[in-house]
Amino acid sequence: MSNLTKNIIWAIITLIVISLVLSYFVGPQTQPKTLSLSQLVSDVNANQIKQIKVNGDELDITMTDGSAAVAQKEDGTNITDTFKNLGVNDQALQGVDLQVVNQSGWQYWMSLLGPDILTLIAIMFIFWLMFRQAKSGVNQAFNFGRSNLKLSTFKDRVMFKDVAGLKEAKEELIEVVDFLKNPKKFLDLGARIPRGILLMGPPGTGKTLVARAVAGESNVPFFYISASEFVEMFVGVGASRTRDAFMQAKHASPAILFIDEIDAVGRQRGAGMGGGNDEREQTLNQILVEMDGFDRDTRVIVLAATNRPDVLDPALLRPGRFDRRVILDLPDMNDREAILKIHAEGKTLDKDVDLRRVAMRTPGFSGADLANLMNEAAIASARHSKTSIGQAELLEAAEKVIMGPERKSRVISPREKEITAFHEGGHALVAAAVKDADPVQKVSIISRGFAGGYTMKLPNEDQHLKTRAQFLADLAMMMGGYASEKLTFGDVSTGASSDLKEASKLARRLVTKYGMSDLGPQVFGDSQELMFLGHELSNERNYSDKVAADIDEQVHKFLMHAYEIAERVLKTHKTALKKIADTLIEKEVLEQDDFYALLKPFKIKAIAA
Ligand code: ADP
Ligand code: MG
Ligand code: ZN
Repeated sequence: MSNLTKNIIWAIITLIVISLVLSYFVGPQTQPKTLSLSQLVSDVNANQIKQIKVNGDELDITMTDGSAAVAQKEDGTNITDTFKNLGVNDQALQGVDLQVVNQSGWQYWMSLLGPDILTLIAIMFIFWLMFRQAKSGVNQAFNFGRSNLKLSTFKDRVMFKDVAGLKEAKEELIEVVDFLKNPKKFLDLGARIPRGILLMGPPGTGKTLVARAVAGESNVPFFYISASEFVEMFVGVGASRTRDAFMQAKHASPAILFIDEIDAVGRQRGAGMGGGNDEREQTLNQILVEMDGFDRDTRVIVLAATNRPDVLDPALLRPGRFDRRVILDLPDMNDREAILKIHAEGKTLDKDVDLRRVAMRTPGFSGADLANLMNEAAIASARHSKTSIGQAELLEAAEKVIMGPERKSRVISPREKEITAFHEGGHALVAAAVKDADPVQKVSIISRGFAGGYTMKLPNEDQHLKTRAQFLADLAMMMGGYASEKLTFGDVSTGASSDLKEASKLARRLVTKYGMSDLGPQVFGDSQELMFLGHELSNERNYSDKVAADIDEQVHKFLMHAYEIAERVLKTHKTALKKIADTLIEKEVLEQDDFYALLKPFKIKAIAA
C-alpha cells in the first residue's frame, strides 16, 4: 500500500472519530419532548410545570417529574400575555418558576454556527497535516520533478563587505549588481547583458558567498540549487527540475539563480568519465536551452560555481551562456588577515592577538579553512574557561586544521621520544643551516594526527614561483630527519618514511615537470592534473624505456645529493643538534624565536644546498 493511500485512510478514520466526538459534545443527549402552546397551558393549569426558561422565542421547560421539554412561543410576544390570552390560571402560574434568559447576539450565532465551525477547523487541520507530511518528504512522489530550490531570505543577507579579498571577482560582479539595479541604462545603450557567470576556484574560496553577496547588494531574490541535486533521484528528473528552477527564477525576476557544482552536470558530453550518462546530458542540454531562451531584457542572471573548469563542456562557455568567467584564488596573506578579521567579528579576542601572524602561518588556507580556524580557536578558548580568544589558541587551531588534533595522550617510551627529538631536530637544523630554506616556525615532538612530531617551516611571504635552489633546500631539509637518526643512532626508524615519500615525489617532479635536472629543459609524460587541487589524475608515458631509466637516475641523484648536504650540516654542527634535541625532550615544543635564540651561540653559517 502506498503512503498516499495510507494517509487518506488515516484521514478518513480521524474525520469519523472527530465527528463522533463532536456530536457527543454538541448534539443534545436525549431529545426533550416538544409541547404545543395549548398543551403547555393545560400542563401549567394542572401544576405539572416546575420551571420555564424563556430563551428568545424558545421555552425550555422542566416538568415537576424532572423531565425536560421545549416549546415555542409566538415571535416577539410577551410570555405572560400569551399565557393570559390562552387562559392560564393565575394561581397555577405563580407556582411556576418563570425565568427570562437574556441571550447576546454572539452567543446566539455561536449556538447556531458553533458545530459547523468546529467541523471546518477539524477538516482544515487534517488537510494541513497531510500537506505537511507530503512536504517533509515522507511522500517523495509529490515532489517528483520539482527542484529543491532554496530561496534565501533577507535574514542572512550577505553584502560585499562580508567578503574579504577577491578583489578582481568583486570588480567583475559589481557590474552585475549595477545591471540588476539599473537595467535601463544598459539596455538603452544596446548592451547585451551577461546571462551566465562562471565562478571558478578551489573549494572554500567563497564562491557561494560572493554569489550571495551579489544578490544582497542588488537586493534581489537569490535562488540556490546544487547541480548534484539535479541528478540525485529519478531518471528524467534533472531536465524537468532545471526547467522548474529557471521558471521560478524568471517569475521572481529580477533575480539571481545560483547553480552550485555545475561540473556535476556540465561535464564534457561523451567524454567518457562516468560513462555516457544520458541523465546528465539531458540536464545540461536543458540548462543550455533555458539560457538561450532568455529574452534580451530577462533580468535573471545565472551564476554557476565549479572547482573543475577543466572538465566543463565547451558548449557551456559559448557566448550568451557562461561567457564570463571569474577566478577566485586562494587568499594571499593580506586577504587571509582580512578574512580572519571578518570572522573575528562578534567574538572577543585578547588584546595582544596578532591576526597578521596567524595569517603568516596559514599559507594555502582557503576562506573556509580560516573561518573554521576561528571557530576552533573559540571552542578551545571556551574549553580553557577563558572569556576571550588568545593568540595561543589561534595558532593551535591553525595547526589543528593542518595536521589534525594533538595526541598528547599517546604514550611514547623515552627511547621513542629521543628518536623523535633527534629526527625533528635534524629537520630544523638543516633548515636553519641551508641557504634558501624557509625559516623554521615551530618544532614539536608532540604527535599530531599521523605524524610523530613535526617541524613547521613556512615562507615569510606568499610564494607563487619557486626556484631550483629553494627546491634543493627543501629536499635537504626533508632528509634532515633520516640523516640525523642515522648519524646519532647508527640506525633509521620508520618515522622517516613519509619524509622519504615526499622527497621522492618532489625529486621526480623536478626532473619530469620543471626541467631542473641534467636531462635539461624538457617535460616528460603527459599528465592531467585536477585543476586547483594538484592531484594527478592520469599520467601518460610518452618517452622510451631508456629515458625512463635516465629519469630514475636523475631522481636518485637529487635524493642522494640532498642526503649528503643534510649529513654534512649535521656532522659539522653535532653539538647544536644535541642541544636542540635535548631541549625538545625537555620542553617538547620550540617556537620560532626560542629556536633561533638557541642556535645563536653556535654561529651557524648557511651553506648552499
Ligand atoms: P565555496 O562555495 O567556494 O566552496 P563558500 O562560499 O561556501 O566556498 O565558503 C565557505 C565559507 O568560508 C563561507 O561561508 C565563509 O564563511 C568563508 N569564506 C570563504 N571565503 C571568504 C572570504 N573571501 N571572506 C570571508 N569569508 C570567506
Ligand atoms: Mg560552495
Ligand atoms: Zn620527518
